[in-house]
Amino acid sequence: MVVIQHEHPLTLVDLNPKYPRDEYVYDDEEDLISNQAFQCPCDRCDLNITFFHRYYYKCNQCDYSLHKLCYELPITLEHTSHLAHTLSLFQNESQQECHVCKYYIWDNQLCYYCSTCMLNICLNCGKNKAHHHTIYHPSHEHPLIPINRENSMMCDACGKHHQGIFYQCITCFLSFIYEDCIFSPKRLLIQEGTCDKFFHTHPLILTYGFPIADQQAKFNPRCRVCDKSFSGYEDFWVYKCEKCRYYAHHHCAYSRSSYLRSKPSESGKSKYYFFERQ
Ligand SMILES: [Zn+2]
Ligand SMILES: [Zn+2]
Ligand SMILES: [Zn+2]
Ligand SMILES: [Zn+2]
Ligand SMILES: [Zn+2]
Ligand SMILES: [Zn+2]
Ligand SMILES: [Zn+2]
Ligand SMILES: [Zn+2]
Repeated sequence: MVVIQHEHPLTLVDLNPKYPRDEYVYDDEEDLISNQAFQCPCDRCDLNITFFHRYYYKCNQCDYSLHKLCYELPITLEHTSHLAHTLSLFQNESQQECHVCKYYIWDNQLCYYCSTCMLNICLNCGKNKAHHHTIYHPSHEHPLIPINRENSMMCDACGKHHQGIFYQCITCFLSFIYEDCIFSPKRLLIQEGTCDKFFHTHPLILTYGFPIADQQAKFNPRCRVCDKSFSGYEDFWVYKCEKCRYYAHHHCAYSRSSYLRSKPSESGKSKYYFFERQ
């Protein structure tokens, strides 16, 4: 499938114009919390555009949106490894090997393609730098980017060991957060992930630390899910409801099943659904 330039002009949208800002102010702002729930599929790479990407391009005339990074990719490419022809930006349809680095390019991934020689060049090689989405996350004062290979290490959000893709700060190198944890929702209904075993009428709000002084001021509460204390957990993320003094470790409150993330194929379906209804 050829990637074609869109026929209408696109506008750059900033989903978090006040970034970075104080956590406590942040908690009370309904518009920012609802902005954090924003997601829509990117019409070039098929992955979701989320609040954490901060910037995206949007068409004012139709239902068309692009990640800022995907928008900025050039449509054609002259590459030193293949000077005979100009390559074009394509969305890959079946798994292919990159002509340069020999790594696989997966289905639906963007790549550069020479239609004459039927060869593909991955975006990493095509751009001579990684195809990284920068994440503007309220937990950290600098932008974060995904490390481009799998790691097995402790996550700075939940304190647990994970295997997979981690996000890292490239300014201070201090923050390593597992991809599933970094996208956990700001506002969570605990009963949705725990099969109603734990129930709380108010949504819990995600905060990025539970300082000792704060714990003491609240009479050293225990986690409502596992009943363990928060000692040694000062720097990790907590879901809480201050009204009810309800606190839970990030990993106790948040389970994979609770967070409804639409996969590329599902987001594609929802687009068709949109057309069917008209
Ligand atoms: Zn994209
Ligand atoms: Zn349009
Ligand atoms: Zn490559
Ligand atoms: Zn060629
Ligand atoms: Zn984690
Ligand atoms: Zn940093
Ligand atoms: Zn717990
Ligand atoms: Zn409550």
